[in-house]
Amino acid sequence: MSDTIFDKIVRREIPADVVYEDDDVLAFRDIHPQAPVHVLFIPKKKSFATLNDCGEADAPLLGKLLLTASAYAKREGFADDGYRCVINCNSGGGQTVFYLHVHLLAGKQMPERML
Ligand code: AMP
Repeated sequence: MSDTIFDKIVRREIPADVVYEDDDVLAFRDIHPQAPVHVLFIPKKKSFATLNDCGEADAPLLGKLLLTASAYAKREGFADDGYRCVINCNSGGGQTVFYLHVHLLAGKQMPERML
C-alpha cells in the first residue's frame, strides 16, 4: 500500500485540524469542506486503501469508525438535526485518497439524491 497523505497525518508528519482521537480512530476536519461540518474518521493502527480491502475481521473497526462519527455528532449537538456518513470506494466512487476514511457531513440540508 502506498504512503498517502493520511498516513502522514497519522504519523503527525503533516498537520491536521484534529477534533477527536483515541487508540483506534483519528478524526480531523476536511481541508476542502463540503458542508459546515466536514470531518474525516480514519483508523490509526491498521490502514486499508479502500473499503474493498476490509474483511470480516475488520468489522469491529469499521463499526467503531461509524460509532465514533455518531458519538461526535451527539457530542457536538447536531445528531438530532441529522448528518451524513459517506465512504467513497475507488475512483468510480469518487475516492481520491486511498486510505479508508468515513466522511461526516452536517450543518446544511443534504441533497436527497446524489444524481
Ligand atoms: P475521498 O475523495 O473520499 O478520497 O476524500 C478525500 C478527502 O480528503 C477530500 O474531501 C479532501 O478534501 C480531503 N483531504 C485531502 N487532503 C487533506 C488534508 N491534508 N487534510 C484534510 N483533508 C484532506
